[in-house]
Order: sequence, then C-alpha cells, then structure tokens
Amino acid sequence: MPNPLSIKLALQMASTQLKTEASVFEAQLLLQYALNVNRAWLIAHEHDALQPNIQKAFEALLNRRSAGEPIAYIMGRREFYGLDLLVTPDTLIPRPDTETLVDAALAKILDHSNPSILDLGTGTGAIALAVAKHRPKANVVAVDASPAALEVAKKNAASLAITNVHFILSDWYAGLANQRFDLIVSNPPYIEQNDIHLTQGDVRFEPISALTSGADGLDDIRHIVEHCLIYLKPQGWLMIEHGYNQTDLVADLMAEVGLVSIETLKDLAGNNRVTMAKNPLIISTHWD
Ligand code: GLN
Repeated sequence: MPNPLSIKLALQMASTQLKTEASVFEAQLLLQYALNVNRAWLIAHEHDALQPNIQKAFEALLNRRSAGEPIAYIMGRREFYGLDLLVTPDTLIPRPDTETLVDAALAKILDHSNPSILDLGTGTGAIALAVAKHRPKANVVAVDASPAALEVAKKNAASLAITNVHFILSDWYAGLANQRFDLIVSNPPYIEQNDIHLTQGDVRFEPISALTSGADGLDDIRHIVEHCLIYLKPQGWLMIEHGYNQTDLVADLMAEVGLVSIETLKDLAGNNRVTMAKNPLIISTHWD
C-alpha cells in the first residue's frame, strides 16, 4: 500500500485484497483492531491519515487473514449470545448456529428455580456462560478434556464476572462425581472424518478434536447419549448439537437408550441442528 493512506482508502484496498465473503466488514474489524478503536470511531475518522506503524500492523493482519487464518483467532475474540469471548486456537470458534442450542436450553429450564446444567466439551465456555449469565440461579458445570481450552473458558468466566459456572477437566463424563443434572447440553465434534469442509475455511485452523469424531462423526455423540441416563435427573433433558444430516441417527441413539419426547430444532439457516430428549423416569433408581 502507498504511504500515507486515508482510513477510507486503506479499507477499500484491504477489502479488495481479502476476497472473503464479508471482506468489507472484515477489513473494518482488522483496522479497528490495529487502531484499538470501535466502528463508530473508524467511520467518523475515515479521512484521517494512517500512521505508518498502524498501516504496517494493518498490512500484517491482512496478510494473516488472506492466508486463511480465522478473524476470531487473529483478534482473539468472538461475540456469542451477547458475550464478548476470548478465543484461541485451542478452542473451537463459537458459531451463531449454537445460539439455537442456548435458546432451547434457556427455554427448557424456565420452570426450574435453580436448575443444574452440565455442558460437555465447553471449549471457550460459550454455551455454559451464556446460560449461566441469563440464569444467575442456575448451577452450571462445564467440562472439557483440553486443559488449554478450560483455561480459556475460566478466563472468560472471570472477565465476564460470571460466578455460577464450575469448570472441571474431564473427558466427557469421566471426571464427574455422582451428580445428576436437570439438563445436559453439548456441542461435541460431529463432522465426518473425510468431510471436504475440513479442508476449507476457518475449520482448517481449529482444533481437530473439536471438529471430528470417528468416520461418521458420531463417536462422541454415541458416548454422550449412551451414558447420559447416569447423569440425568428424572425428567431431565439431553440436548445435543449435530450435523444437518445426522438428525435421524441422533434421534435413534436417543430412542435406543430409552429417552422420550425427542424433538429437533433448526438453526438460523433452516438446517436441523439440535436434537433433545427427556429421561422418562419419574423417580430415580440410582444414588440420589
Ligand atoms: N458447526 C461447526 C461447523 O460445521 C462444527 C462444530 C462441531 O463440530 N461441533 O463448522
């Protein structure tokens, strides 16, 4: 880029370079990041000249984005359900689709005064923190098998001052004590091992363990469903995010273990995305 450039011109050149779907928006985000300003400031100052050091920093950010690195990892942040979350390459980047699951979870616990909720594979903590924030009396347990991801989730809880989430390092249910929950939620890895999408876009940079699980993508979902009755209270619900084409398989798994009232919800794009089902027991037959 020539020097010095106005903010307006720098943004125009940047969006041409990016060639991404949302290139105008992404160029703005990256320049905001380089300048440490908000969007309103950027637009109000579009005729200002860029300082050479800022221009250099902006060009470096653009080059990273041009090489495919996700915006969320470059900036280290992603907004999810109104929460500003820290994200790192140790965590999956929270998706708008997963807000469908949060909406459904909040609706499910509406009648409970202090519901207990388990989030399996919490990553950044997105689901657990969104639910906990909107239901301050809920007790949320969030687990992840990745110590690095769990650190990110804990930092998010601290910076958002959310205190009703308890974090546990655990491979799915393995590290849990004998506790039962009104609701178990999860956005586990579910992409098929050979899915072409794994070689495209943001997912190339995301932790593979958060994306795929066995040949058909369903290994972890199978595990979660097969063991859920040990951890669900009577009448408790299991709610799982899955691939658009996995609805029947997930519903069958749920039916096989005896869950009832199976229901699937669509994401913002109109694809099947979340399936839930209920523990039919009225009285627990186990330890509580
Ligand atoms: N929904 C994500 C995607 O398709 C995958 C998330 C996941 O595997 N849990 O990119």
